[in-house]
Amino acid sequence: MTTDRVIVIGGGIGGLTAALALLKRGIDVELYEQSSQLKEAGAGLQIGSNGTRVLYALGLECALAEVQVMPVARELRHWSTGETWNWFDLGETSVKRFGTPYLMLHRGDLHAALTNAVTTLKPGAIVLSKKCVAISQTGDTAEVRFEDGTAVTAPYIIGADGIHSTIRAALFAPGKPEFTGCVAWRGLIPMQQLPEHLRRLVGTSWLGPHGFVLHYPVRRGELMNFISVVERDDWQVESWVIAGTTRELANDFSGWHADVQSLIESIDTPYKWALMVRAPMDSWSRGRFTLLGDACHPTLPFLGQGAVMAIEDAYIVAACLNKYFANPVKAFSRYEEIRCDRTSAVVRKAQENRAMAFEPRLAEKDAVAEAIALDWMKVRVSERLDWLYNYDATAIEI
Ligand SMILES: Cc1cc2nc3c(=O)[nH]c(=O)nc-3n(C[C@H](O)[C@H](O)[C@H](O)COP(=O)(O)OP(=O)(O)OC[C@H]3O[C@@H](n4cnc5c(N)ncnc54)[C@H](O)[C@@H]3O)c2cc1C
Repeated sequence: MTTDRVIVIGGGIGGLTAALALLKRGIDVELYEQSSQLKEAGAGLQIGSNGTRVLYALGLECALAEVQVMPVARELRHWSTGETWNWFDLGETSVKRFGTPYLMLHRGDLHAALTNAVTTLKPGAIVLSKKCVAISQTGDTAEVRFEDGTAVTAPYIIGADGIHSTIRAALFAPGKPEFTGCVAWRGLIPMQQLPEHLRRLVGTSWLGPHGFVLHYPVRRGELMNFISVVERDDWQVESWVIAGTTRELANDFSGWHADVQSLIESIDTPYKWALMVRAPMDSWSRGRFTLLGDACHPTLPFLGQGAVMAIEDAYIVAACLNKYFANPVKAFSRYEEIRCDRTSAVVRKAQENRAMAFEPRLAEKDAVAEAIALDWMKVRVSERLDWLYNYDATAIEI
């Protein structure tokens, strides 16, 4: 182990991946997390092949195999008739095409796998109940101060503190987020509670005129993850942990197919989140501080890539620090050079997909085939996905 040391603020998926990637390169890490317990929201995550490529390179293949679902396909369904189309194949087809699988995971399971890997390499690397409230830096040292009055210093500090990042706000004049007019719902359902025909290892997107529903299996297929987005402007709180009611959720999807109603009825507690957009930032670093993940490029959930971008960032920032530890300007300028264009493209693409996610033509039954053929059929799939899934963060020349 060298004496090089990096502090990571935030123990979400991005921060933990960064800690693991740094430790794997022999760089000492301390990670500070504001919560008193290390845990993730009870929700699912789709990790495309570009994300599993990084997680496997960090040694997580076996840990993920214990909890993952490798879905066989993604399907599309019509919001009212339930008509079903195969959208694209996943499973082994996807492994053959992209080299690593497309996985569906419970966030808590991925979080636990990352935490175990970090603490195996360095017990005590993660310090809880440490809320960063202020930062400062001199020529060769960066400092973080916590709410409890303590402070720590290191040559480098990475802000992985999420969408409401304190470090981003301290380094840059924070732009005001813009409300999209959409509210997302999330919930988990024990698979056994669902009718048998819904208990399948596929991801299903229900397309409708003013909303969409996505459900997919997680945790070895024991749970079904439910996400929906609806056009609504009466809820503008951007928080992942505020509960709504089943009645409110059902009301947002009234008139949708009986299978959607079964899913909604089976969710214990549905949570709601107002979707906001922020313009991509020109720069993420100042001196000895940089940012990663949602702290610098929060992304709408219409591409399923926000966490995967944080995972890719984490791998690259560790590689840049490893190569240029003595030179902060070079380390972070190379990191941004590699990552800014790609993450901005993902942010923009996710915003464009928002327009496609709500399909006004689906209000008319006769227009269904045309709408599906134009925007969703297979010919478009490789255009939409190859640039995302073929990216190999582990092979980039630093
Ligand atoms: C509805 C929805 C569905 C999604 N589905 C997908 C998907 O399928 N696939 C995908 O790749 N992405 C998905 N995303 C995006 C993904 O959830 C985020 O991009 C990802 O969680 C960002 O990770 P992060 O580590 O950057 O931030 P976070 O997960 O937000 O972690 C930040 C951490 O920092 C801590 N923290 C915050 N402030 C402080 C502070 N001041 N001091 C100390 N600690 C602090 C927090 O407690 C937290 O632990 C989805 C998002 C939404 C809203």
